[in-house]
Amino acid sequence: VKRSGRHGIRFFTSAMQQRAARHLQLVNALRYAIERDQLHVLYQPQVALRERAIIGAEALLRWETPELGKVSPAEFIPAAEESGLIQSIGAWVLREAVRQAVRWRSEGLPPVTMAVNLSAVQFRNTDLPKLITRILQEEGLPAEYLELELTEAVAANDPQGAIAMMNKLHERGVRMSIDDFGTGFSSLSHLKKFMAYKLKIDQSFVRDITTDAEDRAIVNAIIQMARSLGMRTIAEGVETVEQLSYLHEHLCDEIQGYYFSRPVTATAFRQLLLDGAAR
Ligand code: C2E
Ligand code: CA
Ligand code: CA
Ligand code: CA
Repeated sequence: VKRSGRHGIRFFTSAMQQRAARHLQLVNALRYAIERDQLHVLYQPQVALRERAIIGAEALLRWETPELGKVSPAEFIPAAEESGLIQSIGAWVLREAVRQAVRWRSEGLPPVTMAVNLSAVQFRNTDLPKLITRILQEEGLPAEYLELELTEAVAANDPQGAIAMMNKLHERGVRMSIDDFGTGFSSLSHLKKFMAYKLKIDQSFVRDITTDAEDRAIVNAIIQMARSLGMRTIAEGVETVEQLSYLHEHLCDEIQGYYFSRPVTATAFRQLLLDGAAR
């Protein structure tokens, strides 16, 4: 069966097979990630520009196994979502991050809000508010120190559901932020109903902010809109002092990015808090 027309098909099929095999491999390994202690969380500072202080941490999940090495969350989070494993992994991250926030508080460090990413699958789970409240109570963190990041795409995909869930979480005192903002096409009429505390301006608009007039226009519009709706703004992916200055001048409230710090271990984050406090 060596007809030339088949090559394209065979190639395509084998690429698909490879992807399916990889997916299966990830899902099988992910099942044991928690019990084998292969997951850990890094923390990236969120810095308030006016106060010049770290006021938050975003918890970012990492996974490393002896067989697969380090796997990027961009690859394993989708696998965890499709397999349903994200429920247990997401709950693990929430507890781990909340526990860490409590540890820093008990050490008397300057208070920071702990921001945790929520996947669409977790967000659709009607037990989510109960789970969150249980974790906060068991670990002993006041609700207002937890912030949940939901992508704009997820919120926009089911606005009514998102409004209802965000309301429930808001009632429980937890803050919500809309992640990757500017890429998810939520309508403005819905946006004001989302009980969002903060908009996270997507890094794709921040990257060329000093050179691209359109990106600037988008960022300025997001900041103005957020201000008039009473929401805070944070810019993600800030890598240079020029980006920082622009955002500061244009009244963005907070920045997050390599300029200030990469995501770091809890121990390294603690040192950042201490250094900040000593300044
Ligand atoms: P995200 O929530 O948009 O997180 C921001 C990503 O940008 C992180 O990638 C972070 O390390 C990276 N980043 C931060 N500052 C800079 C910068 O200055 N320049 C550049 N180029 N990148 C920067 P990471 O940690 O690889 O995470 C990728 C995505 O995986 C996250 O995007 C989030 O969607 C997802 N993710 C990570 N942890 C979790 C989790 O615990 N639960 C869920 N559901 N998703 C997670
Ligand atoms: Ca995020
Ligand atoms: Ca983001
Ligand atoms: Ca993203």
